[in-house]
This record gives sequence, C-alpha cells and structure tokens, in this order.
Amino acid sequence: MRWSIPVGKLFGIPIRVHLTFLILLAFIWYVETSVSGPTAGLRSLVFWTLIFLCVLLHELGHSLVAKSYGLTIASIVLLPIGGVSQITEIPRDPIKEVGMTIAGPIVNFVIAGVLLFLGKLAAPSLQFSEISLQSGSIVVDLFWANVMLGLFNIIPAYPMDGGRILRGFIAMRKEYAEATRLAADVGKMFAIGFIIIGLFYNWWLILIGIFIFSGANSEVEAALLSSTLEKIQVSDLMITDFKTISPDEPLTAIVDKSLHTFQNDFPVLDDGKFVGILLRSSVIESLHNHMHEKRVGEIARKNFPVISPDQTAAEALSTMRAANVTVAPVEQDGALHGIITIEKLLEASDVFNEKTK
Ligand SMILES: [Zn+2]
Repeated sequence: MRWSIPVGKLFGIPIRVHLTFLILLAFIWYVETSVSGPTAGLRSLVFWTLIFLCVLLHELGHSLVAKSYGLTIASIVLLPIGGVSQITEIPRDPIKEVGMTIAGPIVNFVIAGVLLFLGKLAAPSLQFSEISLQSGSIVVDLFWANVMLGLFNIIPAYPMDGGRILRGFIAMRKEYAEATRLAADVGKMFAIGFIIIGLFYNWWLILIGIFIFSGANSEVEAALLSSTLEKIQVSDLMITDFKTISPDEPLTAIVDKSLHTFQNDFPVLDDGKFVGILLRSSVIESLHNHMHEKRVGEIARKNFPVISPDQTAAEALSTMRAANVTVAPVEQDGALHGIITIEKLLEASDVFNEKTK
C-alpha cells in the first residue's frame, strides 16, 4: 500500500503503518496538549497508541487464522480508520471465511475480558459500569474501547467483519458472487445510515460510511471478476501468435520488430528456451537513458511466475497480481506455449459478462 512505512514483522507478517495514521496521532497529541496541557497530551498519545496496538492484535487474529488455513498474508497495514490484513486470496470455503473473520472481533472481546479481570484484581475500586473513554483510568477506557471495537466490527456492514461473516453464511447457500452482492447491498444500507447519523452526531461516522460504501462496490466488482474468470482457462486466452527475440540481439532490433506488430512485450528465447520477457517499458526506459548499445538479455526481466495453460484465468490473475507483473509466460513441461497479459484477462471478463447479460 502506498504511503505506508514498514515497522517490523510479527509471526513472519510484515507490519506497516500508514503515514496518515502517524499524522493523526501527532494531531491528537498537539490538540490535547494545547487545550489541556502536556500531561493530557501525553496521556492521549499513549491511549491512542494502545488502541492501535489492540487494532493490530485484532488484525493478527484474522491473519493467524488465515495462516493456519495455508493462506499467505502480504502485510498488515494500520490506517487511521482501523487495520487491514492484506491476504493474497480470500478462501472460497465459507466456513473458513467466517472462521478467520470472526477471530478479529473475538480478540477485542478477549482483550476487554483480560482488562476487566486484571483491573479488578489490581484495583477493586475501579468502576467499569459506565461507558466512557474519558473515565480517568486508562484501563477502563481501553476496556470500553475494545468492547466498542468488537461490537462495531460485527455490525453486518460488508466489507466490515460482520458483513463478511454474513457473506459467508449466504455463500453456504448461494453462489459466491451473488452472496457478495447481497451482503454488499446490506452494507450499503448501513453505510447510508452511518452517513445520515454522522451528519447530526459525529463526522467520523460519515467517513466510515463512505469507506463502507466504496468498499462494498469494489468488492462486488472483484467478486464478479474472479467468479467469471474461474470459468475460463488460460489456454483460451493466451496469446500464441507472437514474435520472440534472442538475448544477444541489440536493443535497436526491437525497434524494428515493434514496427511490424502490435505486440508490447517480447519473450526472450535462448536456443528455443524461455529465459525472460523484454518489456516495452524497459525498452523505452533504456532508450530514454541513451543505452542503445545494450543487449536484449541485459534488460529483459527474468523472474516470472509460471502460468500453466490448464490453470483458470482467476488463478493466473491472482498469481500475476501477487508477483506484480502485467505479462507472464505460459509454460508446460518446460516449453513455452504462449504469453498471457493482465489486459487480456480483464478484457475476457468484460466480454464474458456482456455475453451472459
Ligand atoms: Zn477485522
């Protein structure tokens, strides 16, 4: 995610903090200090840092359950609005999705329980009965913050946790894309409700409403895309009619080849064996930097995920996105069968949906 900085690793998962989050922390500290003095400023800084630590634990709850299902977690990003676990794929097994989703809010309820227990143990006079984030005791405030975080997240407003749990339950009876659409409709109703209530009471709710609304829309699109691409094979989409280039050829040779084809990227073959792809972007960059005398082999990209012709287009798309490539070789038994591009995959989904409308 852009504008986020790495702060370390937990259980092998990279943790990142979004810059806007740090700005928010600084803002809270500044306002509190100038309004109520340095002690209050420091206290609110500690309090909000602890809250985001709880948000981090919430995300770790999702991520560790996902990990136990064998899924890969790219990173956890802390945003002002909460945390995001970037899991490379959402499991299609609704029971697993419900399991990894519910783990987050459970973490908050467990933290609240531990705070209540330890707080009462250390100071029996502590009052937990009044809902407050400004009770004067950080333990009581954190207790209520976690209760609220847990409760807020299980509101069935997709793509929030509660909405994902709802989608999981619907998906046990209906098709995945349809289940997503239904859960997103419920989510959008909540979003509109949040925005309206927010107008009168709390601008923070407006922000959350907008976040839910746009999140619901893009998740529906993503679900539709992947369920469409699951029905198509890579072999139906791969480009088999393409020109290749050898690693020893000079860069200028590609300029000549490009004039006779619409092809952007050229597979590099050394004695008939695939060794990389010469990307249009690298050619332009090299020519721009006056490196005309370079050989193809020197600037071709060499590490590519291998896509096989009998994979589904959905698998190819997620592999290519995870590897951050726009083009990849399609190989079987070490032989190059074709090339596949993200553009081709996305185009196929549009064509498919036009046909079935
Ligand atoms: Zn969550």
